[in-house]
Amino acid sequence: MTKKHTLTLSKKEMQEYGYRVVDTIVEHFTTQDEKSPIAMATRQEMDRLFLEEAPENGMDAQKVLEFVNENVLSQVAITSHSKFFSFVPGPSNFISAMSDSLATGFNVFSGGWAVSATAAELEIVTINWLLKMFHFPKKRGGGIFTSGGSMANLTALVTARRQLCGDNFSKAVIYISDQTHSSNIKAIRTIGFSKDQVRIIPTDMEFKIYTNKLLNAIAKDKLEGLQPFCIIATAGTTNTGAVDPLLEIARICKEENMWMHVDAAYGGAGILSEKGAKALRGIEKAHSVTIDPHKWFFQPYEMGCLLVKNHKWLSATFSEKPEYLRDVEGNESEINFYDHGVQLTRRFRALKFYMSIKTFGLSAFREAITYNIALAEELEHSIRKSKNWEIVSPANLAIINFRYNPIGQNFNEKKLNWLNKEISHRVVQSKKAVLMTTELHGQIVLRMCLINPRTTMQDIEDTLELCIHYANEVLKSTAT
Ligand SMILES: *Cc1c(COP(=O)(O)O)cnc(C)c1O
Repeated sequence: MTKKHTLTLSKKEMQEYGYRVVDTIVEHFTTQDEKSPIAMATRQEMDRLFLEEAPENGMDAQKVLEFVNENVLSQVAITSHSKFFSFVPGPSNFISAMSDSLATGFNVFSGGWAVSATAAELEIVTINWLLKMFHFPKKRGGGIFTSGGSMANLTALVTARRQLCGDNFSKAVIYISDQTHSSNIKAIRTIGFSKDQVRIIPTDMEFKIYTNKLLNAIAKDKLEGLQPFCIIATAGTTNTGAVDPLLEIARICKEENMWMHVDAAYGGAGILSEKGAKALRGIEKAHSVTIDPHKWFFQPYEMGCLLVKNHKWLSATFSEKPEYLRDVEGNESEINFYDHGVQLTRRFRALKFYMSIKTFGLSAFREAITYNIALAEELEHSIRKSKNWEIVSPANLAIINFRYNPIGQNFNEKKLNWLNKEISHRVVQSKKAVLMTTELHGQIVLRMCLINPRTTMQDIEDTLELCIHYANEVLKSTAT
């Protein structure tokens, strides 16, 4: 029987409850693509459904589950939906979802070796897989799993600052581009840099950082007596998938004795495909790289990762132990991951990565990622041949930006911006697909991020047809 004061259920009750939960998840996995990928509600509607005081007395477990099923889980955005094209989708996979349940079920503490050697070992092993993928040194290199890319970027910046500035960072300057992900700016602010310690360098026509302007800014800052110490390059910008000139940035960092951090939260996984590997050339020169397994490595939330060239940089930054004890620790000896990052108590993130790669094999990931890149390229070709559409930023690591601009209509820029915004708005309102806009060089464009391996060309064509339908509807309604 349920014993409330110990928060326990009988074995039979747990089984009934647990099977119901698994059935619910399986049902979701098998029907998600037929559901609507987005849910919209106002705060008022939500409050009406859920707002209440914490109930003093509990109720039947199955009833709570049913309520959550009907009212919560039925009203979430499905970022793993094959027609969820916006932001960065989270395609996820069933094995990892179940692995996460195991890690939670066993409540594995993943902070220190002494408590959970296996958890630490699996983190070492999977980080080693990633080090190899990114051509980082296996012996000297290291890394840590984090809640996401934001936390990985923050961890990188704290490490870089520790290594190059020590305690006095009042003159330190960080360089980013106008396409750098906002999480970096958040991290810079969080760790106590002021606004004047950041230079936002413009990007070129392809949204890559202008290295000439970067060099000018560094030179100026040096003349002012400041300390240029870190460049954050992006390998796969969230907007367009553009990759900054990594080899050039590596050269600058070497010459100027600066830290090269590469934010590859979005695009990093591309390295598993031939084309992606080519686009990411130079990433191996970085001091640190952020990747985000909960994006294009198909892991459920939350899972980010920071890789570093030298694992000692992490322990030297985050360990609270004296220096002379650190030498016994290395990638080849026991690692306490609480010494390699901010968190002490950590969930067992490595397990899902480990189990999904063991189950599907790395080749499955490689195929999925290669497919995604090819899909975006196929879409680019088909758009170039169409009278209705115009490519604004070509297929880049599975991201593509385009707009409705039918030949012969000669719509002006203002009208095109308005029209494409309207198209996106109506598609989203239809709840049949999630296709949002972004702004590139002043143009409002439709953006597709195609990292779901279950998305087909048909899904895309259906969505484009829907767009044209709404475009005609909008134009008709304003013509009269
Ligand atoms: C998504 C993303 C981030 C932030 O990662 P989270 O996992 O959302 O914290 C950082 N940088 C880039 C380039 C991204 O695409």
